[in-house]
Amino acid sequence: MNDHRPTYARIAAWLLISLIVSSPASAAAQETIRQATAPEALEAPKVQKLPIASLLSRASQDCSTATALGKVLGTSRELQVGSEASAGVGLKTYAQTLALQDHEIVLTFDDGPLPATTRPILDALSRECVKATFFLIGRNAAANPDLVKREVREGHTVGSHSWSHPAATLRGLSESAARTEVTKGMNAVDVAGWGEAGPDGKPHVPFFRFPGFADTAPLLQFLKAQGVAVFATDVWAEDWRPMSPQVQLRFLLGRLERAGRGIILLHDIHPQTAAMLPDFLKALKERGYKVVHLVPAAGTFPTNRISAGWTSETEPIVERVLSQYRPRSRPDAHVKRHLSCVGRWGCNGRVRGHGQAARSRGRLSRHL
Ligand SMILES: [Zn+2]
Repeated sequence: MNDHRPTYARIAAWLLISLIVSSPASAAAQETIRQATAPEALEAPKVQKLPIASLLSRASQDCSTATALGKVLGTSRELQVGSEASAGVGLKTYAQTLALQDHEIVLTFDDGPLPATTRPILDALSRECVKATFFLIGRNAAANPDLVKREVREGHTVGSHSWSHPAATLRGLSESAARTEVTKGMNAVDVAGWGEAGPDGKPHVPFFRFPGFADTAPLLQFLKAQGVAVFATDVWAEDWRPMSPQVQLRFLLGRLERAGRGIILLHDIHPQTAAMLPDFLKALKERGYKVVHLVPAAGTFPTNRISAGWTSETEPIVERVLSQYRPRSRPDAHVKRHLSCVGRWGCNGRVRGHGQAARSRGRLSRHL
């Protein structure tokens, strides 16, 4: 048995390096790696007993310490969110939102994962010990399961955002096609992140955001019956519009300062967002904002309701998008092509480049 110890120790050390290399590499975690890879450590039986969970716990303790010392932005608290709200949350679409305190924010990222942009975003979050919520497109999750697993492993909350983000939105599909988009997307996220669906076939994280915020009453009922909470947003950067990271940062901070709190929508598929994020996290810390991490739970949860004067900001946008998909008396080839190939996600599941997206944006006005 002793003859095998060095081999086991080297495998353990290799696994530890693989897991930690993209995590918040605090001094203590780095020390653990150094010890695990030192020649003397390779011979030490105690290295074999270092479970992955204990390393992640150590990293979590390091984040707690760094946050308490003000060295990182950190995550200030968890907010348990059940599925028994009367509708979704997020003031752009619904007359209620999460009951956040002044200067509390929730970071959310849509439409990923994509390697070139999701990786640096995860790196930036990890450096600042920030937990976010990701709403994934199912087919992107299926194509990049390692990134989904990384999001789960690093403690982020991973919900879903339909299978293919149809350009016509779920409201533009038949009820049955829309339900398939929802369930297929959830299943793809579960398989990519956890290898299988959650207990009783339910999603591991029953959080959903409608593509383009285009919900319908039947789909809201369908999701509620399955115990799925629906999220819109309170503040957005409009990062689907091409702009420099500096302009986007100024734009987003201005809106956040006016709102004072809320759910923030970003997209982890845009290079400008990935480039902006480190400065945004730094600015949040300097301005005294606290990051709240959403976690799924049973039952109800506190919300802030707007009693008067509220109107949906997303509904006019959804209407503009849908107006391009309503049947015409003589659909021509242009319309047929439009139905299958419009939007940032392009034809045949390929993500479009900026030029294509910009041209599509001209037709769609805005695409969330
Ligand atoms: Zn989206």
